Amino acid sequence: MKAVRFHEHGGPEVLRYEDAPDPVAAPGRAIVRVRACALNHLDLWERRGLDRVTLPLPHISGSDVAGEVVDAGGSGLAAGQRVMLQPGLRCGTCDACRRGDDNYCARYDVLGFRSDGGYAELVSVPSENLIPIPAQVDFITAAAFPLTFLTAWHMLIARGGLQKGEVVLVLAGGSGVGQAAIQLSRHFGARVFATSAASKAERTRALGAEQVFDHYAGDFSKDVRRLTDGRGADIVIEHVGEATWDRSVRSLATGGRLVTCGATSGPGAALDLRHLFARQLSLLGSYMGRFDELKSAAALFFDGRVKPVIDEVLPLARAAEAQRRLEDKEQFGKIVLQVD
Ligand SMILES: [Zn+2]
Repeated sequence: MKAVRFHEHGGPEVLRYEDAPDPVAAPGRAIVRVRACALNHLDLWERRGLDRVTLPLPHISGSDVAGEVVDAGGSGLAAGQRVMLQPGLRCGTCDACRRGDDNYCARYDVLGFRSDGGYAELVSVPSENLIPIPAQVDFITAAAFPLTFLTAWHMLIARGGLQKGEVVLVLAGGSGVGQAAIQLSRHFGARVFATSAASKAERTRALGAEQVFDHYAGDFSKDVRRLTDGRGADIVIEHVGEATWDRSVRSLATGGRLVTCGATSGPGAALDLRHLFARQLSLLGSYMGRFDELKSAAALFFDGRVKPVIDEVLPLARAAEAQRRLEDKEQFGKIVLQVD
């Protein structure tokens, strides 16, 4: 098969479009012909190299995949069935897995992280990870859905405990997770504010944010307070990290919950503990989500009530260019690789 692989860590130039061995059929595993694979920040971390994780090389990234079943691996689906893939990989036997808490599994992994992913013509996944998609959903849009909507759902609902009528502040509302969080918050009856670069503000507002603040200029925590009669936000959805952390914490209402799933601007963050205890704040980490949460989010997607935004579609061979675009933060929505 053709695949995009890297044999060493580095910049986008290490990505090579080349021949790679086809995945081999194995018990309990399906093989899917990839039609589309969306990019995530995780792909960039994999390519650059990580301090604590050694990836097997050469490596094929790609966590968000849609395509057609080639070998259903005993799942009962027919060959040719159109599917998208649940990107979370679990052991299936530990206590967390038996409870359905897939993302608390001690051996939890993400498709394309420690295993080969979807920057390829074929991918092997556990057959339980196949999600049939209805005829009205195209491969490009389906590939853009799973990871960001699963992440945003788990942050808002499971971790944040979102209630109707609450105020949600979404950091980087123009990013994939941000766009999903805005739409889901609105769906569940929240009042939504967001931050973004000024160039993305209008499009972020169009997704459902009442007001959009420029997170490169000014103190958005003051804007949030001003617009909520001094209260602040009940939930802050964070994934920017160092550059916005302090303002995010100061945006919280008394009893507010800050949920974070990333640190794209850097992992260092200081905290004034007086804010934490006196205002009874909760700081919550979040990573991926449960399969049943993805299925709940997918039901809204298939009904047309939420939808990933597509920034650009490029052929698989141009994966390096696609990653550069993600790295330059120019995109609005998901960048998707199309595989013919
Ligand atoms: Zn497990």
